[in-house]
Order: sequence, then C-alpha cells, then structure tokens
Amino acid sequence: MSENCPLCNRKVHVDRFQSGLSNYDCPRCGRFGISRTLAHSVILNAEDKQWLSIYTRSTPDAKLETSNYTEAVESVRLPLGQRLQKMITALYDLAGGGAGVEIELSRLEHAPLCWAPSPEEMNAMLKALEIQGFLEVKAERPDDGVIVALTAGAVVAEQARSQEEEEERQRQQSRGTLGFQRRQ
Ligand SMILES: [Zn+2]
Repeated sequence: MSENCPLCNRKVHVDRFQSGLSNYDCPRCGRFGISRTLAHSVILNAEDKQWLSIYTRSTPDAKLETSNYTEAVESVRLPLGQRLQKMITALYDLAGGGAGVEIELSRLEHAPLCWAPSPEEMNAMLKALEIQGFLEVKAERPDDGVIVALTAGAVVAEQARSQEEEEERQRQQSRGTLGFQRRQ
C-alpha cells in the first residue's frame, strides 16, 4: 500500500509488519524501516527528518526507532568539509568513475544522496565544489534540475582517497590476523 514517507512526505510504498515496524521504499530517502511509534511521534522535527533522510539513504536496511534515531542524526551531521567529500564520492559513483561525465541531478531528489540536508544546502555545496575546481555546472534546468560533471582533478582525488581507504582496511585486517596469531 502507499502513504506519505515519514521523512520527506512523498507518496511511497510501505509494508507493515506485526513487530510494529513499517518498511518504506522512497526514491529520495531509500529503503528503510521505522517503528510506527517514531514515525507518528511529534518528537521528530523537520530538521531531524532532513538528516535522517541522509542516514537512511547511506545506510542499507536502516531501522529507525525512538531509542536510536538521535544517534543516527548525529552520525551524519558531519562538518561541511566531510560532507563535501561524501558528495564527491556520490557523484563519482553516479558518473561511473569518469571525469567529464554529465550527471543530471534534481536538488530535491538527490539532496540526501549527496549528503545535503536540503535542496538549498545541496545548491551551496555544488557551488563550493565548483569554486574548489572539483566539478563543473554544465546546465541549469528550469525546475530544480542541474547538470554537473566532475573534473579530472576530482576523479584523481577520489581514486586516491578510496585506495587509501582500502589500504587502511587491509592494514587493519592484517593487524587483526597477527593479533590472533600472537594470542595462540
Ligand atoms: Zn522519503
């Protein structure tokens, strides 16, 4: 059945479960579960909902409840610099890793995916990345649409960053293995 998304208010598909959990599938906020108590609670304010959209969009199978939602908000309310980095990663994935590949975005629909709590902030973040030389705005649509492309510099930086992340993951893994061997 369909009803309004508790985070962004769009008409979306929902499945209800005996456990008190409702599972939503929203084009903007992603697929997520939320307890009916939290979904209908007045404690969720408009700003919390914007941050929670980023959380549900970036966390596969997120399950929001009254007991964990503030933690979820805090985990994505990152400083601007870190969110700009996350935005580059999201655009890199949308472009399939290519420099100059045109990506059509809707400021309304893609804000949570790009780690922006609102369309206005997404616009400001796009401008910041353009000034820093990481992207080019190719065209503005008459509605809220915008076409952008990552620059070669952004692609190189993103590749270096993800390689570093992978190396760090491997280092941690091998430290874990050595630790296990020492204990034997
Ligand atoms: Zn939504």
